[in-house]
Amino acid sequence: MTKPINFLNERTLKGTFFGNYKPRTDLPNVVEMYMNKELELDKFLTHRIKFSEINKAFDLMVKEVVVVAAAVAWEAGKPLVIEQVEVAPPQAMEVRINVKYTSLCHTDLYFWESKGQTPLFPRIFGHEAAGIVESVGEGVTELKPGDHVLPVFTGECKKCRHCKSEESNMCDLLRINTDRGVMLNDGKSRFSIKGQPINHFLGTSTFSEYTVVHVGCLAKINPSAPLDKVCIVSCGVSTGLGATLNVAKPKRGSIVAVFGLGAVGLAVGYLLFNVLAEMTDGGVDRAIECTGNINAMISAFECVHDGWGVAVLVGVPHKDAIFTTKPINFLNERTLKGTFFGNYKPRTDIPNVVEMYMNKELELDKFLTHRVKFSEINKAFDLMVNGEGLRCIISMDD
Ligand SMILES: [Zn+2]
Ligand SMILES: [Zn+2]
Repeated sequence: MTKPINFLNERTLKGTFFGNYKPRTDLPNVVEMYMNKELELDKFLTHRIKFSEINKAFDLMVKEVVVVAAAVAWEAGKPLVIEQVEVAPPQAMEVRINVKYTSLCHTDLYFWESKGQTPLFPRIFGHEAAGIVESVGEGVTELKPGDHVLPVFTGECKKCRHCKSEESNMCDLLRINTDRGVMLNDGKSRFSIKGQPINHFLGTSTFSEYTVVHVGCLAKINPSAPLDKVCIVSCGVSTGLGATLNVAKPKRGSIVAVFGLGAVGLAVGYLLFNVLAEMTDGGVDRAIECTGNINAMISAFECVHDGWGVAVLVGVPHKDAIFTTKPINFLNERTLKGTFFGNYKPRTDIPNVVEMYMNKELELDKFLTHRVKFSEINKAFDLMVNGEGLRCIISMDD
């Protein structure tokens, strides 16, 4: 419907069929336009497949692959390269999220340097992040587009023995797997560059504007929480916090020794206020080891008090490291424990850690020492390699 006055006002409404071109007369000239570089075609040609794989073309059209910027690690220890990467849509029990902020954690650096692990390249790193759900795959009921989420490098299926146990967060299905570069559903990657698959990292791969994550590795959080702050809750801060609150459980007035003053160690320290570096008479009540160095681990246990002392191991050790101690220490009523991600269950507990921040019971700002644009992500690596600062926030939007 329109008002006839619009026509009197000298507007025209027209239609066209095939752009009014006569096929035999005009199309050869359109080809000439391309030959004369007056018409560009290359930017339309995003994929190429063999005739025998024609159904792939249907999949691409039906399921909306997005092409976005991602920082790709092509080789161990070499600067990341921002590439245009195709991100496939989420499959069953998967969610595609728009990453808003990510930060660099030591674990990314460790696998990027690839010293002592099986190298898996090309790969998209990143696991500490916050984002917004863009689309969900089949069977996903508890998340919808627009929800704010923190991806976590380990998961919670809510069905296995570990998930059903109050004591464990070591999910059978979604437990961290540093060697896997593909999704569980079909053993394939959701990332590709002109058809070449790019490996995932820890099931999160957040150094990409969009990423696909298993629903069990996403914590749905308060939508009013600032994503550029709470993104660090998805790894380091929760690990330190949980190691203290859930595992070491110091009593009021306890003396606690913290080994390692990275983001994890400081999360412990800020919580306790009284970080003790030297031995007290007979030992400390609790010791929390956050470095992963085997000698620091042994020292942490050696420095706890007989009768009630508890040492908690948090830092990730070298895979061949061996812990040695005298069994008499245990008979003398010392306890040695370890924890993974502070014993937090990602989906059940992490939303509450974000609430602690919202209620001002947890401070995050002092961890956020640097901020860079996504295009400058290699600066974040430089800062960490040089031991400068604690957390560098990488902003995807500017
Ligand atoms: Zn981490
Ligand atoms: Zn589970």
